[in-house]
Amino acid sequence: MDSYKTIFENNRQWVEKKTGEDKDFFKKLVKEQNPDFLYIGCSDSRVTAEELMGLGPGDVFVHRNIANVVNTLDMSSTAVIQYAVEHLQVKHIIVCGHYDCGGVKAAMQAKDLGLLNPWLRTIRDVYRLHQDELDSITSPKERYDRLVELNVEEQCINVAKMACVQEGYLYHQYPIVHGWVFDIRSGRLIDLEIDFVELMKRIQRVYDLTGEDWNYK
Ligand SMILES: [Zn+2]
Repeated sequence: MDSYKTIFENNRQWVEKKTGEDKDFFKKLVKEQNPDFLYIGCSDSRVTAEELMGLGPGDVFVHRNIANVVNTLDMSSTAVIQYAVEHLQVKHIIVCGHYDCGGVKAAMQAKDLGLLNPWLRTIRDVYRLHQDELDSITSPKERYDRLVELNVEEQCINVAKMACVQEGYLYHQYPIVHGWVFDIRSGRLIDLEIDFVELMKRIQRVYDLTGEDWNYK
């Protein structure tokens, strides 16, 4: 119970600190949000969104679920992406995975995990798509790390499959989709340096929803 009560004391101190730094902080905050970033990350309690990026209230629109999955049938993540792109007009969409991800680890075990099965199947599909590469890695730890990275890349592709993302990029040159991994062992963010334009061109033949030629640059 003590840790529960501490939250309200923490909150009181946070309000004091914020209004001490800027007495109009909450007046400004209430007006609107205008974030440049949509962050899609894992629910893992060790992987915060704003804190690890050094950002504060109003800076980033956030969606988190187990193993940062973007699934076409998941109304929650697709609604978040659609809102962020069409209404907030975010400039960057970040899919951020992390090493030591329990969701990815669970997906690597071929066994029945009950209600989690349909969720983990998206990650198991990533394994199957890259099975040759993953099976060739002898170190279990390196294979696990690599699946974390490949899962981020595949979820970036899933973001790019959405019509709002394709149309946004085609007509306004944003949002750009980025894949990151948070290295929980060092605290560092790793940019997987996904070439978004190349990615879009690569998936166009199968996933294009715009009816346009994407060779516009
Ligand atoms: Zn995780």
